[in-house]
Amino acid sequence: MSRASSFAIAAILALVGCGKKEAAPEGGAPAAEAAPAAAAEAPLLRLYAMECGRIDVLDLGVFDLGGAYAGQTKSLIDTCYLVRHPAGDLLWDAGLPDSINAAPDGVTEGAFRITAPKTLVGQLADIGLQPADVEFFSASHSHFDHVGNANLFAAATFIVQKAERAFMFRDEARANAQEFASYSALENAPAREIEGDHDVFGDGRVKIVSMPGHTPGHSALLVTLANAGPVLLTGDLYHFTEAREKRTVPTWNTDPEETRRSMEKFEALAAKIGARVVIQHEPADYDALPKAPEYLD
Ligand SMILES: [Zn+2]
Repeated sequence: MSRASSFAIAAILALVGCGKKEAAPEGGAPAAEAAPAAAAEAPLLRLYAMECGRIDVLDLGVFDLGGAYAGQTKSLIDTCYLVRHPAGDLLWDAGLPDSINAAPDGVTEGAFRITAPKTLVGQLADIGLQPADVEFFSASHSHFDHVGNANLFAAATFIVQKAERAFMFRDEARANAQEFASYSALENAPAREIEGDHDVFGDGRVKIVSMPGHTPGHSALLVTLANAGPVLLTGDLYHFTEAREKRTVPTWNTDPEETRRSMEKFEALAAKIGARVVIQHEPADYDALPKAPEYLD
């Protein structure tokens, strides 16, 4: 291998953040051809689903402004996702706090009884990772069940909608001390502030899709996998299958009309690309996925 091509490969490895990841193909290709060759081989992209808590809803009525679920109860799951890309690992949502794992009967807060039979840190360890190894963190939105372990990822680049950042660091959010404490370190994390849809790694395979309304900067995540195809993670645009079918709007959404527009956008996108939709709180959708350390690719 010539010195020049060694430099070229080293540059590519640095560019894609390799070392602990899949290596770019070696073999002394001329520098000018090395980068396209690496791209053409579509290096690894994996999606790992993790269980980040369970939520028993004691009053499902709060999930519809129109009262569709009055008097009902439901068990939901709380999920987190790791996307492994040659340019880095992205954690999508940080679940309920792992500390709840120490309370087997969980914690009851208002209409919710929350438990955490598994920890996020434990499931990352099963993949061979520690929180400090994760290069990018983003959340569908900043509610307590999506940022519970966010402080563990304060060394990662925090990819956040400008509107969500303003929402999560507003005075009213700070006043909710216990909840705020779970993600307060993100305020000083290296940040990539975005507005609207965003191509995370620049190759079109991992996209944050703006879906405001549940919160001002609420987003979905689209991961286009080589074998499994496009997978669309809903965030909390919908909380369970029936909510998607009826397009119900929870009582605590910041903007119901914006939510309905996001539902239109989501359904048009899902239909256009033939995406597998994963409703992040729907136990049946989680059950149908391979569980970390297994993955979709
Ligand atoms: Zn949620």
